[in-house]
Amino acid sequence: MFLTEELNRRLSEITTIHSLEELEHKTGEVHAARLPIGSLPDCTEFSIPVLVGEGSEPGPTLLLTALIHGVEIGGYDVIRRLIREEIDFKKVRGRVVAVPIVNPFALAVSNRFTPQDSADLNRVFPGSANGTLSHRIAHTLVEKIVKHADYVVDYHSCNPPSCVFTIVDAEGSAEVQEKSMGMAQAFGAITVAPSDKTQGTFSGYLSSVGKPVITPELVFSRRFDQLSSDAGVIGTLNVMKYLGMIDGQPQELLGTPPFKRGLRYTALFAKTGGFIYFSKKVTDHVEKDEVIATIRNPWGEVVEEVRAPVTGMIIAYPMAGNQALTTGDKIAYFTSDF
Ligand SMILES: [Zn+2]
Repeated sequence: MFLTEELNRRLSEITTIHSLEELEHKTGEVHAARLPIGSLPDCTEFSIPVLVGEGSEPGPTLLLTALIHGVEIGGYDVIRRLIREEIDFKKVRGRVVAVPIVNPFALAVSNRFTPQDSADLNRVFPGSANGTLSHRIAHTLVEKIVKHADYVVDYHSCNPPSCVFTIVDAEGSAEVQEKSMGMAQAFGAITVAPSDKTQGTFSGYLSSVGKPVITPELVFSRRFDQLSSDAGVIGTLNVMKYLGMIDGQPQELLGTPPFKRGLRYTALFAKTGGFIYFSKKVTDHVEKDEVIATIRNPWGEVVEEVRAPVTGMIIAYPMAGNQALTTGDKIAYFTSDF
């Protein structure tokens, strides 16, 4: 009984806001708020959670976002640790705005996509005020939150086996790309720049409107992973040091390949369905056309030898978390020199 009352009391203290200006900004403190989006069939209102950590001196606004994809819960843990444990806002220049659950609907059904419109929220930015639910979430985030941000870290996760890596968009002005790459270098994980443009991504939108952004890919879906959570926390504190928001020397990330400038990102998709067996590990160096895996059919015979499309390093075997493949599944991600 006590727990429920205490929980209700705490929840009632979380302010519903319609813009960040509505928050009373007490310096050195963390404010919890919710931003309404709409309502369910039973008229229950729904909102997205927002945390604002207000520094004690002027400085930039860093936006942290997680769970645009409903299974990628690692970023929630990084944000929680940063805001509730790691950062002393009395010593911060500027402020940190965090949206730990951008897509609560996809999270509720443990899916990448928004169930109401089957859309990938990370393909509809900047969204629309009159669109389906995913478009409205994107629009609310852009209009109410993003316009206050100077820099953005958007956490995602990749299924294991994978290592922590950072994606920097090849969109936006040279200045935005350079600043984003500076953030990625400060974060400290191996960093890739996709050569192809994907329409409607949050990071692509941010880059196009002049906001530097990095997308760290943590490890594991649906579960927290200590090593990548640590990397997310240390990496983000490194970014805050780089942006002059906190003092201190950058710390090295453990157990993950370090930053290297100018790496290309290549995804390899399955041609043949079947069961995949790997002959190379994540972080192994491979030569172009080297066999990295074999695919076997239901009768146990090899139907395909999977070859590396580039000379470089394997950074993930995402495969939708499943070693049974269907044509078109993502088998592996690689980094290689341009
Ligand atoms: Zn994602």
